[in-house]
Amino acid sequence: MRTRHERKVELISAEGEKQRALQAANRPPEAICGCTHHLAKHDKQGKCHEVVQTPTAWDGDKKPLSYEARPCNCQQYIGPRPLETLYAEDIVDLS
Ligand SMILES: [Zn+2]
Ligand SMILES: [Zn+2]
Repeated sequence: MRTRHERKVELISAEGEKQRALQAANRPPEAICGCTHHLAKHDKQGKCHEVVQTPTAWDGDKKPLSYEARPCNCQQYIGPRPLETLYAEDIVDLS
């Protein structure tokens, strides 16, 4: 009885693994750069144009006290590059 039950559990989890693998394969990779910004924020040269809040002052515990909006200093997009059509869809999603 015990063995049968364990076998069933094994089967179910194997089925779940297969589902997950299938879903992962169908999903296009997120076009997110190492700077955490989307591919759409990068120009054709790969430079990122997103604005980031950069700390400009810290307290004694190294906790930021104030922030300043600065352009992201990323010079090259390094994330996955989806197909051109998927890329266009992503831009629509963002707006
Ligand atoms: Zn970047
Ligand atoms: Zn960036």
